[in-house]
Amino acid sequence: MAEGAFFRKAVGVATALALGAGTVVLAADLLTLLPSAGRYLGSRAYAATVQLGKGERPAANAAWIEQSGDRAKLIFELAAPLDVTAFVLANPDRVIVDLPQTDFALDPETGKVAVLRRKTGLIAAFRFGQLGPGKSRIVIDLAAPAQVLSAACGKLENDGRARLVIELAKTDRRSFEAAVQRARIQLTALAQPKEAPKPEPDSAKPVIVIDPGHGGIDRGAMVHGLIEKQLVFDFAKAVAAKLDAVGRFKVAMTRDDDSFVSLSERVRMARDRNAALFVSIHADTLSSAADVSGATVYTVSDRASDAEAARVAEKENQSDAAAGLDKTEDASDVSGILFDLTRRETRAYSQFFAHTLVNYWRVAGRLNKNPRRSAGFLVLKAPDVPSVLLELGYLSNEKDGLALTSARWRDKASSQVAEAIEAFFAARESSATATKTDPDRAPGAKIPSAGP
Ligand code: ZN
Repeated sequence: MAEGAFFRKAVGVATALALGAGTVVLAADLLTLLPSAGRYLGSRAYAATVQLGKGERPAANAAWIEQSGDRAKLIFELAAPLDVTAFVLANPDRVIVDLPQTDFALDPETGKVAVLRRKTGLIAAFRFGQLGPGKSRIVIDLAAPAQVLSAACGKLENDGRARLVIELAKTDRRSFEAAVQRARIQLTALAQPKEAPKPEPDSAKPVIVIDPGHGGIDRGAMVHGLIEKQLVFDFAKAVAAKLDAVGRFKVAMTRDDDSFVSLSERVRMARDRNAALFVSIHADTLSSAADVSGATVYTVSDRASDAEAARVAEKENQSDAAAGLDKTEDASDVSGILFDLTRRETRAYSQFFAHTLVNYWRVAGRLNKNPRRSAGFLVLKAPDVPSVLLELGYLSNEKDGLALTSARWRDKASSQVAEAIEAFFAARESSATATKTDPDRAPGAKIPSAGP
């Protein structure tokens, strides 16, 4: 179908933030000019969108890229037209397209570089998925600074279906940075104040927060159809169920479904609940070494224990960027003697638990040749909640991949994690008793030194 015909019945709302100096409101019929009109300075263009029934969610069932010269189009085929908002972000350079919650009936690897095999062009890769309740997002990784010429839904001629076309053009770094600044200002203005956290009812039971990594638009590692966010969610649920069954703990998960949660939000959830332990669950991949295998337990440290730990932390810290979040300042950089003391004690507990977990894990699963490492993981930065990150294994390793998808293995390994947690609290309690009876003993002195 010719593009002109496709846009003739264009409907939908296109919101393009940070696209240029002017603000022009486009009427729906002006959208017919979009493909040839080139520069789209629009702020908002309203037209009739299809009202979806309650519980009904729009679906996307195809996506492709058209690139030529300094221009590129990313096209999604949709079941119905949608409202979209597009803007740009830097570090790394990305185009973000927000839309109502959409079911992407697409191969999750559709937008991966390896699948696209297009290292030239403006679009290096793209991702799509759920961002939050009722919200979905498309993130386009840029190979060069680009401006959004248009981001709009057009209805196809003959049926109710529609196409979302995101059209990009190459631009210079200065214009790109200026567009990023404008987007930031508008995004800040739109941001709704976070609701105050509900105070947790006092409970004698220690609160344990289990954190399945990634979720929603952020899929984590993906190898041969294995998707990290799903595997770690299944594992986390198994651990939580086993801890619940013990009856001695109050167990919370950072996500109960396939939704995106930012790294700082995960930390905040643990702190708001006064968690006594935070366990983040992940699975790694190494494209270059299929023979590297086994689980690794990480704690946070200012300097990485080794190059491999630094690589893993860098990758896991990309989670927010993968979902198209702007880089946020690290709010945990507070200083002061009290803070330092708290953090030091928390780190000692984290290391003690990591040590315990490695010992329990070896009963059920394989360990990496160096299973205890540390690096600057953002999700482990709560100064007052002992936190570890467990990499279950490598999706790139055949044996690990088989284990991770086996229900039997998951049952055995998750039991070991739950038992390690019980042992950790048993040791903490006996340590607290010892502290009470011996006033000269420094807090935490019973905690054995652990780790390399
Ligand atoms: Zn991960």
